[in-house]
Amino acid sequence: MKPEKHRPRSPRSPSTQAGHAPRKRFGQNFLVDQGIITAIVQAIDPQPQDTVVEIGPGLGALTEPLMQRVEPLHVIEIDRDLIARLKKLHSRERLTLHEGDALKFDFGSLGPRLRVAGNLPYNISTPLLFHLAAFAEQIRDMHFMLQKEVVERMVAEPGDSAYGRLSVMLQYRFYLEWLIDVPPESFDPPPKVQSAVVRLIPKPREELHARSQEHLAQVVAAAFSQRRKMLRNTLKGLFTEAELEALEIPLTCRAEELSLETFVRLANHLGSRTGQGQ
Ligand code: SAM
Repeated sequence: MKPEKHRPRSPRSPSTQAGHAPRKRFGQNFLVDQGIITAIVQAIDPQPQDTVVEIGPGLGALTEPLMQRVEPLHVIEIDRDLIARLKKLHSRERLTLHEGDALKFDFGSLGPRLRVAGNLPYNISTPLLFHLAAFAEQIRDMHFMLQKEVVERMVAEPGDSAYGRLSVMLQYRFYLEWLIDVPPESFDPPPKVQSAVVRLIPKPREELHARSQEHLAQVVAAAFSQRRKMLRNTLKGLFTEAELEALEIPLTCRAEELSLETFVRLANHLGSRTGQGQ
C-alpha cells in the first residue's frame, strides 16, 4: 500500500484551535511538543532580572512559559494577525511587542546583556544569525531552534563537508553548543526537515584576534566563494602567491581545510598591508 501523502491535520491542532492558518512565507511551524518546550526554557533558564527577547513568538508556545519567568518579555513578530492576537491576550506590562522584521531590528536598543531566543523562521535563519552577530557585544546569550542542517554548518570543523562561511564567522564570534535534536512531529505543521536547538555565547574581547572583522569577513567570503577551488585562485584578488607562501598557506589547499586561526592570520595580514584595522 502506498503511504498516504496528504494526511489531514487534526482539527484540534493548536493553529486551527487558535483560528490561525500557518503562513509558509513566514516560516510558521508552531512548536507543539510540551517536552521540547520545557527543555528549551530549562536550557535558557531565564531569571526575573534578565532582559529577554523572543524572535517570532507565533502562537506563544515559548512566549507563555518565558513570560512566567521574566517581566516584561520582549517579542519581535512580523505577522500582523499574530501581533493582534498577542495584544489581545497579554497586557503591555507583561509583554512588550515589537512589530516588524527581526532582520531590521536594532537589538542594541534593548540594552546590554540581552538574552535572545526563538524558534526561528527557517527561511531567514542564516541572514538573521549574521544580523545578530553584529550585536554580539550587547548580547549575553542566544538559544535558537534551527534547521538541523544549519546547526551542522554552524559547528562544522575544517575538513567537514558542512564547513563554510557560516561556521568560520560564527565560531569566530561565539562559543556554540548543540543542545537538542527535534523531530518534525514536534511542530504543527511539521516541517520537511529535522531541527535542532543551539546555544550561542559571545566570546570575550580578549579572544577576538582579528584586528578588523570586516577584513575577516572579506577573506572568508572570497575563500568560500568557490569552495572546490584552490586558494591561489579564490584569494587572487586579495593576496599574491608570494604573500600566501610567506604566511605558510599551501597554494593548493582549499578554504574548507583552513582553520579559524589561519583565516584570522590572513585577515590581519590584509589589514597590515592596507594600513587599516590596526
Ligand atoms: N515561537 C513560535 C513557536 O515556537 O511555535 C513560532 C515559531 S515559527 C517557526 C516562526 C515565527 O517567526 C512565526 O511566528 C513568524 O510569523 C515569525 N517571523 C517570520 N519571519 C519573521 C521576521 N522576519 N521577523 C520577525 N518574526 C518573523
